[in-house]
Amino acid sequence: MIVTIDGPAGVGKSTVAKLLAKALGIMYLDTGATYRSLAYAATQANVNPVTDVKQLIAMAKKLPLHLQQTDEGELQVFLDGREVTKQIRTEEVSEAAAQVSQHTDIRAAMVELQRRLADKHGVVVEGRDTGSVVFPYAPYKFFLDANPAIRARRRQEELALVYGRETPLQQVQEQLHFRDSLDRTRRVGPLVRPEGAIAIDTSHLAAPEVVRVMLEHVRSRTG
Ligand code: C5P
Repeated sequence: MIVTIDGPAGVGKSTVAKLLAKALGIMYLDTGATYRSLAYAATQANVNPVTDVKQLIAMAKKLPLHLQQTDEGELQVFLDGREVTKQIRTEEVSEAAAQVSQHTDIRAAMVELQRRLADKHGVVVEGRDTGSVVFPYAPYKFFLDANPAIRARRRQEELALVYGRETPLQQVQEQLHFRDSLDRTRRVGPLVRPEGAIAIDTSHLAAPEVVRVMLEHVRSRTG
């Protein structure tokens, strides 16, 4: 059982993916966490996310990443044994992740890592290219999208929840726009609606409603 969920930032992918994984009793995999972890490791090592491509590729090929799911379904991220769950969610890391993810060889290394991280018994995987590149033969594919203003507000709420501080909406909107354009226009693994993916507009749907639609689809095909 492989379910892929793709879409831009702020459409509710992680929340929905966690709930769906729980309902189906399978693992949840956040592929953005792999790019974020690489970007974080690079900034810690003073490696430039845009120009130091050789070093980035070498780091990507042996990223000491470990993901663990808590009983509540939350994802814990460890780099070289040290927990970095919160550190990889800053806006600085978001931007650096969007930059490191432009390079073809880095994406190849990350895709390999993501396939290795996926549980053999089943996975709900979310990101930008999970249905088009990472698991193109997945039987269930979804593509989420939402109004940009709503996405920015959601991202702002998420940042406030993680860091307990308010980020101006305008700033969040600009950052989302910057990441979106990088993600949609890159040559390798761009953000697209994968072939066969069911599109859901989450602008006016709460996460449990999105999950209900997804479950109906999965169950209609598995009985
Ligand atoms: O999903 P999240 O916002 O955590 O992803 C951070 C960044 O990692 C994205 O903006 C994107 O550039 C990159 N990414 C990617 N392919 C994926 C998942 C994330 O390029 N499958």
